[in-house]
Amino acid sequence: AFALPAAAYMLQEQEAHAGEMERTFIAIKPDGVQRGLISEIIARFERKGFKLVAIKLVTPSKSFAQKHYHDLKERPFFDGLCNFLSSGPVLAMVWEGEGVIKYGRKLIGATDPQKSEPGTIRGDLAVVVGRNIIHGSDGPETAKDEINLWFKPEEVSSYTSNQEKWVYG
Ligand code: ADP
Repeated sequence: AFALPAAAYMLQEQEAHAGEMERTFIAIKPDGVQRGLISEIIARFERKGFKLVAIKLVTPSKSFAQKHYHDLKERPFFDGLCNFLSSGPVLAMVWEGEGVIKYGRKLIGATDPQKSEPGTIRGDLAVVVGRNIIHGSDGPETAKDEINLWFKPEEVSSYTSNQEKWVYG
């Protein structure tokens, strides 16, 4: 690798990361917004090295909340959950980075804050499952669907952050 001309070397470096960039949908639920935890939560994703590519504060309608949580429609808590999500402003975001879908879930912690490790968002900042302050897509397919549900394509920015060469090498 030392004998490669600089351009070829850089190409190799690019290829080492190509295809691994992902986007995930993250939302601070009404409890997180009301508790003043927006900056605390954004800071954790930002400091990690992930890139914010979309953000807006919206109060979803109940039917929108039902669409978002359609996978859970048979669960006994579904109605309460949808009422709650539509009860006030939600901070909807898209974050981009290598492995951001899976690692975003790690930053968030287990669904039940009693089972979330200390150091995670829910572990540090929430107490009960019905008020666990944040949502994050649980896989690549869900991420795509949720980003499309919450954002128009033109609301999602594609840009190069100056940090990238320092975060990824
Ligand atoms: P996650 O948000 O960690 O992906 P789920 O998709 O299983 O978890 O559930 C979606 C949301 O439904 C949870 O974040 C939580 O707000 C709510 N929820 C899950 N289980 C319960 C429960 N047993 N009682 C009340 N609300 C729940």
